Amino acid sequence: MSSIYNKKNKTIVNPIDWCGVDRCMLGAFFIAPWYFMQAGFGFFLTSRPDLIPFLNSEVHTKLNYYLLACGLIWIGMFLISYHIRKTQTENKKLELVTVILPVPLVFAIVITHGILMSSVLAGLVAVSMLGFFLFETRLMVISVLFNAALVVIVSLLSFMEVIPFTSLYKEVYMGTGARWWMGGQIAITMYPLLCGIIMTKFFLKGLREREDKIRELSRKDGLTDIWNRRYLMEIFERELLLSKRADTPISFIMIDLDHFKKLNDEHGHKMGDKALEVAAQVLQSALRNTDYLGRYGGEEFAAILPNCNVGAAREVAERCRQAIESTIVTYNGVEINLTTSVGVTTVIKSANVSADTIIERADKALYRSKGEGRNKVSIHNEPVIMNLVGS
Ligand code: GH3
Ligand code: MG
Ligand code: MG
Repeated sequence: MSSIYNKKNKTIVNPIDWCGVDRCMLGAFFIAPWYFMQAGFGFFLTSRPDLIPFLNSEVHTKLNYYLLACGLIWIGMFLISYHIRKTQTENKKLELVTVILPVPLVFAIVITHGILMSSVLAGLVAVSMLGFFLFETRLMVISVLFNAALVVIVSLLSFMEVIPFTSLYKEVYMGTGARWWMGGQIAITMYPLLCGIIMTKFFLKGLREREDKIRELSRKDGLTDIWNRRYLMEIFERELLLSKRADTPISFIMIDLDHFKKLNDEHGHKMGDKALEVAAQVLQSALRNTDYLGRYGGEEFAAILPNCNVGAAREVAERCRQAIESTIVTYNGVEINLTTSVGVTTVIKSANVSADTIIERADKALYRSKGEGRNKVSIHNEPVIMNLVGS
């Protein structure tokens, strides 16, 4: 059994995530009151024939009972769906019946009201819209085709005078009582329209949330939960442009864990993975809120520091190095220490310098740290004035 209520969050699950049977239940829940509304209004009108003199009360009374019966059938559909959901989540037969059942209503309406009434057409559109959100497109196409065929056949039969056109009216005119009739038509039309609109809003909200989640997943590194390289580079391009516009410095830091291959070889890949996760957390907390941290490669991290001059960047890099140095990674009872080599570069006037050039410079500085014994921070030819393209 699937859930329509999230007990943990105390919220109703978005219907976009409901299973087929629950959607049938929701469809019945929406449709049943519509029939009762129409039948109720109809019975009121037949009890007051003075209000709308042009209505054929004999046909109208029959129609009301028909609508009442349809309402009861939909309550039955609701109960059947409710019963089925105890044991099943998907039931194609139930879905098919749910999308086909509105067809007889259309039949009754087009015969009695006349297909050219705008409320009939609006109701048809709205119910179909709601259906497309709740059910498989394939099923809804079947339902809409049935309805369309019905409309065409009834139109033809009316045209050939085989069945009366708008049998509900004694004569087609809009005299006394027209406002009562139109008022009722508006209520009948607005109900499915409102249902359609509210459901559309719900579904779109669900879709947007899903989209946000997918976007977030596509931007994050699966192991460390920090930005992945692709997204970090996107951020970098954007921040470079901003710093150029605002004429502010920007720094880029490259961080590479030392002797990581050895760590993997000695303690296994799982320990290596754990070390990467911990290092990412430690680096994140050593950076400022406005900085961006990403996993650049295997055991290499990169940080973008907007609005950060070389002095501040050196401090941040040193803080990162120390934070890693003082971290102990524990896995399966084994404790290890990590160290890291860091390369820093700052651009104070980013006239024409490309992201690639800046990364190359940070990489060179990082190499120097490695060459000078590791666990060290190096700055690339600080501070570089970028009117010269390349380095
Ligand atoms: P150096 O101090 O010069 O940086 O030496 P190093 O061993 O850290 O550098 P090297 O480039 O030789 O090796 C990097 C190692 O990082 C090799 C690779 O197996 C490991 N590595 C890369 N990605 C992952 C990962 O996702 N998980 C684990 N456990 N290891 C990884
Ligand atoms: Mg390394
Ligand atoms: Mg490396």
